[in-house]
Amino acid sequence: MSRFFSDKYSALTPYTPGEQPQDRRYIKLNTNESPYPPSPVAVRLAREEAGSCMLYSDPQCRSLRVAAAEYFDIGEDAVVFGNGSDEVLNFAFSAFCDDRCPAVFPDISYGFYPVFAEQCGVPFRTVPLREDYSIAPQDYFAAGGTIFIANPNAPTGIALGLDAIEAIVRENPNNVVVIDEAYVDFGAQSAVPLTKRYDNLLVVQTFSKSRSLAGARLGFGIGSPELIRDLETLRYSVNPYNINRMTMAAGVGALADRDYFDVCRSRVIATRERVSEALGRLGFNVLPSSANFLFASSSAVGGAELYAALKERGILVRHFGAPRLDNWNRITVGSEQEMDALLDAIADIIKEEKL
Ligand SMILES: *Cc1c(COP(=O)(O)O)cnc(C)c1O
Repeated sequence: MSRFFSDKYSALTPYTPGEQPQDRRYIKLNTNESPYPPSPVAVRLAREEAGSCMLYSDPQCRSLRVAAAEYFDIGEDAVVFGNGSDEVLNFAFSAFCDDRCPAVFPDISYGFYPVFAEQCGVPFRTVPLREDYSIAPQDYFAAGGTIFIANPNAPTGIALGLDAIEAIVRENPNNVVVIDEAYVDFGAQSAVPLTKRYDNLLVVQTFSKSRSLAGARLGFGIGSPELIRDLETLRYSVNPYNINRMTMAAGVGALADRDYFDVCRSRVIATRERVSEALGRLGFNVLPSSANFLFASSSAVGGAELYAALKERGILVRHFGAPRLDNWNRITVGSEQEMDALLDAIADIIKEEKL
């Protein structure tokens, strides 16, 4: 820390992203990226746009706004775009939390939430998951703060039903409820339709996972025009050109190419189910996942040990050294071949344990 660093950040612990090693080729199952390339339509439109990059991008994101409004059946004033959904979440922590209105989220969830709270200088309170790692909706009734729930949750993969989400929104009429749907396309029900009926609901989604555009950085929030206007106030106060031209074009292409989207996510879901069963046969406890990853633990090999043994074999998964998570690993659902390699490696590691 330099002697110039602001006191307000002296206690800030930044988020630790999953490893993006450049030293050798790994089978990367650690950051929930898609194993499939972006839609060819998205790639073509982004490439065509590259030649116009001497000009700033459209701060209103008109082309993408029109496409998203049609796609999600919402008003054009009901959506805000971010440089990744992380940016939208960051705006939401700034816009809707303060000393009288803490952020409230599960104790086990997206690791960025407490970092956003600290960076924005707002208090937060965590709510323990149940013994089985699920969220108890009643714990969020009259929460007395701005609620952030990932649905499906990360790193568990467990989804709440839409009725439970609606109950939480209904029971907190005077607070904003943010539903982070980064993984919703892999098996949960989206709360987007509820945004027309509840002015306190903000739904956040991303192009990073189900639309294979993690490296393009594109996410968005959907909510009442009033909520969206608040987020736009922040966006225009930080970086009105937050969505670059190529990313905007790629987003339009990704939304247009519905067939490609459906093929990719169906493949991920089918692979997930196959691997979940296979891990079960290898003696793993696998939580029921509605996402593009599996959260698994074994009594034969510890979480940290399995992580290290897989890394040695060229396979990266995500291990969180936190209480209740220490024996678990989060494994992204990759291609069929990648998952075959994972299962072979795990069978091998367990065999060695038993010697
Ligand atoms: C991946 C992820 C995000 C953020 O993704 P972006 O790449 O910033 O759009 C947000 N929330 C959760 C729960 C995630 O797993």
